[in-house]
Amino acid sequence: MSTIADNLSALAARIDSAAKAAGRDPASIQLLAVSKTKPADAVREAHAAGVRDVGENYLQEALAKQEELRDLPLTWHFIGPIQSNKTRAIAEHFDWVHSVDRLKIAQRLSEQRPADLAPLNVCLQVNVSGEDSKSGCLPADVPALASAIASLPGLRLRGLMAIPEPTEDRGAQEAAFAALRQLQEDLGLGLDTLSMGMSHDLEAAIAQGATWVRIGTALFGARDYGHA
Ligand SMILES: *Cc1c(COP(=O)(O)O)cnc(C)c1O
Repeated sequence: MSTIADNLSALAARIDSAAKAAGRDPASIQLLAVSKTKPADAVREAHAAGVRDVGENYLQEALAKQEELRDLPLTWHFIGPIQSNKTRAIAEHFDWVHSVDRLKIAQRLSEQRPADLAPLNVCLQVNVSGEDSKSGCLPADVPALASAIASLPGLRLRGLMAIPEPTEDRGAQEAAFAALRQLQEDLGLGLDTLSMGMSHDLEAAIAQGATWVRIGTALFGARDYGHA
């Protein structure tokens, strides 16, 4: 049975070879460990193996794990859908939010970010596959939303995020990630972050410029209950 440490070294090797294939410095790609549905002990094990950034989708679950892991120097990222009534707790308890997809949520996060903390790092989530069911703003709305978010004092807009429709086809994976990268370049805002790539498509994401890959299954194993 593979341990989290084994999985992490296998992931480091995948990231390394994908970066080299793309002519990129592997150090320009960071791993976000996505621990939804996994216990705090699994995150503790990941930390011992070298993980420092943790992504969570569900607020109550995340807050409980943060409490249990208070002794560890972890950076917490919120990556799930955001309801208005959750923004205050997210603004208070996270360093990054990857899943901002509308202005009202961005405004609330900015207003509610405690003054004694650095501005909250945010990514604008974009629906690059055009699926109705997925969160994310429309590609056409990215320029206006990005410039509005960039002007909010409690936030620091870092870049764009996407969860493309799952496919095993490498060309289709790369096309979706390339679309996100192009949107970011077209903004001309000098943003430094592309949050894209998961367990099954991190190579394609790295080929297209990912700076965060968000990895759950390949690090912690399959999620056997609850949320997809
Ligand atoms: C669950 C999740 C991931 C990780 O997915 P895996 O396929 O398990 O690596 C990444 N990003 C988001 C937004 C997620 O919800």
